[in-house]
Amino acid sequence: MQDFTLEVHGCHEYDRTGAISEPLYMSATFRHPGFGRSTGYDYGRVANPTRDTLEQAVAMLEQGQRCWAVSSGMAAINLVLKLFSPGDHVLLSEDLYGGTVRLANEVYSRYGIEFEYVDTTDTKLVEEKFRPETKGLFIETPSNPMMLISDIQALSRLAHANDALLIVDNTFLSPHFQKPLSLGADIVVHSGTKYLCGHNDVIAGFLVVADKESAAAKQVELLVKSEGPNLSAFDAWLMLRSLKTLGVRVEKQAENALAIARWLQKQPQVTAVYYPGLPDHPGYELQARQAKGFGGMVSFKVTSADLAKNVLAKLKLIAFAESLGGVESLLTYPLAQTHAEMPQELLKRTGLDDKLLRLSVGIEAVSDLIADLQQALEG
Ligand SMILES: *Cc1c(COP(=O)(O)O)cnc(C)c1O
Repeated sequence: MQDFTLEVHGCHEYDRTGAISEPLYMSATFRHPGFGRSTGYDYGRVANPTRDTLEQAVAMLEQGQRCWAVSSGMAAINLVLKLFSPGDHVLLSEDLYGGTVRLANEVYSRYGIEFEYVDTTDTKLVEEKFRPETKGLFIETPSNPMMLISDIQALSRLAHANDALLIVDNTFLSPHFQKPLSLGADIVVHSGTKYLCGHNDVIAGFLVVADKESAAAKQVELLVKSEGPNLSAFDAWLMLRSLKTLGVRVEKQAENALAIARWLQKQPQVTAVYYPGLPDHPGYELQARQAKGFGGMVSFKVTSADLAKNVLAKLKLIAFAESLGGVESLLTYPLAQTHAEMPQELLKRTGLDDKLLRLSVGIEAVSDLIADLQQALEG
């Protein structure tokens, strides 16, 4: 089945009423049909029918065998980091969502796990960083916010040759554009808050595994059951509603993003545009090979930090806000927002500075978005 169809129908099965919209089961517990018998649902922390339908839909879209819907993207990444043990070494993309860096450096490093950041666009360099105790490689591609592209297939071969897991944060593209598990990754995580939700009204996360029998999958199962990070039934229902329009939203966002990236390149106040859909982007060819689209995120640098702040103050239609992936266009100032707690050294290595702005392109008319950017840049 094609993605557009999967997104609309998922694994919806009609119940006795014939409801087209997936029923919302707001039940914390479920009656046993008899002693030692179960409907498959006993207690809401372990399984809920609405959440199950969502998890199956996301697993299908990511071409994975099992998915867990949790309360945030960070809750999903937290599960991933719990797969490692004291003494393990984990490699991560050096350009990464700031919250992931914080969780690794400030929480998990206290438990004896060593984290090392590397430029994962350079497969050879990553290879040199592997040690016998390296158990995981965690990447974002495109990365946040510099839009760097890493080779999922090559990195999965490298990870597996070293008995390590490849984990991909697929938030920036969504499964509509990129399916890392089909390229060899072991685990995909999402901030479901972003493209999968698409309406800036739910905080959610997903963890999807390629192999439901793997040790990692069994460990995640145990963690979810034991710790209870699950997504609520109501949020699961909203996410199912969101998935139906995933394809039309992200295709329109990518179309708008390309037009804006091209326009930004021509503006005298803009010194650099980072969008992998531009043929002069260093990751363009790789991205075209490993994904079906380039996404809706465009980062760019302006001539000065003052101008960057001015743009944020002057925008009328585009909102100055954190987050991304929604139908509303948002502009973020990564240095002070999403990456405020990033170590100085990583900022320097990636070139994330006070002139950088990150635009999450929505589904508005692109001419209105460009007009807003124009008045803000000129103002
Ligand atoms: C937002 C984001 C996260 C964190 O997700 P939350 O839903 O905010 O917890 C993780 N990774 C990326 C790439 C993100 O953009």
